Order: sequence, then structure tokens, then C-alpha cells
Amino acid sequence: MHPFSYTRASDTREALDAGRDGGRYIAGGTTLVDLMRETVERPRTLVDISALPLRDIVVTRRGGLRVGALVRMAEAATHRGVRALYPVISQALELSASAQLRNMATIGGNIMQRTRCTYFRDVSADCNKREPGSGCAALHGVNRTHAILGTSDDCVATHPSDVAVAFTALEATVHLLGPDGKRTVPFADFLLKPGSTPNREQALRRGELITGVELPALPRPLKSGYLKVRDRQSYEFALTSAAVALHIRGGVIREAKVAAGGVGTVPWKLAAVERELIGRRPSEALWTKAAERAADGARPLRHNRFKVELLKRTVERQLRVAGGGK
Ligand code: SF4
Repeated sequence: MHPFSYTRASDTREALDAGRDGGRYIAGGTTLVDLMRETVERPRTLVDISALPLRDIVVTRRGGLRVGALVRMAEAATHRGVRALYPVISQALELSASAQLRNMATIGGNIMQRTRCTYFRDVSADCNKREPGSGCAALHGVNRTHAILGTSDDCVATHPSDVAVAFTALEATVHLLGPDGKRTVPFADFLLKPGSTPNREQALRRGELITGVELPALPRPLKSGYLKVRDRQSYEFALTSAAVALHIRGGVIREAKVAAGGVGTVPWKLAAVERELIGRRPSEALWTKAAERAADGARPLRHNRFKVELLKRTVERQLRVAGGGK
């Protein structure tokens, strides 16, 4: 590990001052400390923000929920309001990481976590994300777990968060605070596709801090859930996943929110699937037809062609569950 200085911010102003000077924010530390040990990350200054008052989950005036950036994953997963209004969020969190990590890691840190591409974490390998311009060892290496959507010639790594997939499906908003004040960014615009700059992963300005994630009010009743397919049943990242929320009234699907994980360089909104669903009556044939669109635009790599079919089946199954089937 490289030497670094550590400062603990007692309020938001102190945190922003330190962040503007190039400090890296840390709270649960479940990703950043690992990466520092492996020398993948070498921050000069860590700014501990865990004392900031960002640990509330509140109902918004519009009837949605705002989850503070420092709410622990376990707290959010078991919160009564989250469970009642957005089961897809609870399920995505409970299927993430391990109990120990969920007790420590925060919502803000979860969406900021970095890829699990093994070449990114191996400092002897070429990796444009870690070392811009060095190349991408995964393109012609072992790429079974990598992305099939949103890739570029410079990076094909997946985003590892589960709850970010649910946030994408529900069209959440990220609340930010920086030296120039507050602003909000739609979740879909917050995480960046790699393009030619895979080292740039979030739409954050210098010194900006995530203060919370807002879930919109959605029409009720809303049936939602998260399905995660992985190589083993616990403490593993998704090969594919699907977050689905359906509002069905009068026997017709009025609203559909669908996104996929484990397949995109960012959590992948399945707009084509949503379009197939809206205005139609739930049926076995509809789930199958809509899920066929899940892999539109996919560009599989040598070792992950199986993800195309697996993604369609994952989406189809979760549509059926949310739509009231088995
Ligand atoms: Fe690095 Fe991305 Fe290539 Fe992995 S896929 S080696 S993270 S550039």
C-alpha cells in the first residue's frame, strides 16, 4: 500500500473543502481499501465522510423515497418503506456481496464501486481503465464474465452493482453536492459507458459528493423484483440479472420498468422490452416476445456468447414472476 494522509470530515463544508483539494471520499471502504492494498488505487488523501448526516431514508413530497448516501446496504434492504414500496431494491441489495459487507458498505459507495474485471485488479496486466492508453487485456483474454452491451474497443468490463440495476430500472435520480452547490443527475446519466475514456466512470465534477439517491413515486399497485443468475448461490457477482417493475391495471400493463445487470458496461435499461410490454395484456407469449428484445445490440466476446441467451431467459423469468406467473 502506498502512503496516504487521512482526514475525518466533521461536516459537509469540511468534506467539500478536502474534496476540492483532490481528497478521495471514503465511508464503508469496502471497495477502496481493497484496491489500495492491491495498489490499483493510490489516493494521496482520504477524506472520511462517515460522520456526515446522510443516513436517512425519507419519503419525498412527491411520494417517492430518498435514500441517504451513507445508509448501509443492510439498512436500506430491511427498511420498511423500501420493502413495501420497492421490493426490487431490497432484493437487489440482499442478493449482493455478503452479510458482513452489507453491514458496512453504503449506498453511495455501492454505486461508486469499480469493476471486478480481473485484469483491472492485476497491476501487471494492460488495462485502459487503470492505466489509460495501456490496452485492454480482456479483449483477447479470458472474457467470460465481461460485458456484451455498451462495450468499446477500449474496455469491455461490466459494472458490478446489483442495486444500481434496480435504480436504473426505476429511473432514480442521484443527488450531488459540490463546490458549486447542489445538482441532480438522472441515474441513467450518472454511470458512464467506457467509450475511449474507460478511466472516467461517473458524471461527477471535481470535489462533488453523492448525498443521496431518489426513487420516484410510481403508480400503484406496482409489482417489482430482482433476479440474479451467478456461478454460485452466494457472494458472487451476476452473470446476468433483471430488475423488473410492472404496474398492471384493468388487466393491462400500464407501466413497465426493466433493466439488466451483469451484461453491460453500465446497468442496462431495456427500453425495447418496456415498449413491448406497455399497453398489452400479461401472457406467457408476451413475456417471451418482450424478453427477445433484451439483447438488442449485444456484441458478445469470445467467451461470453452464452450471455445473450441467458439474458433473454433471465428477463423472461423475472417478467413472469412480476407479472403474476410462476
Ligand atoms: Fe481494463 Fe476494461 Fe479491459 Fe478490464 S475490460 S482490462 S477493466 S480496460
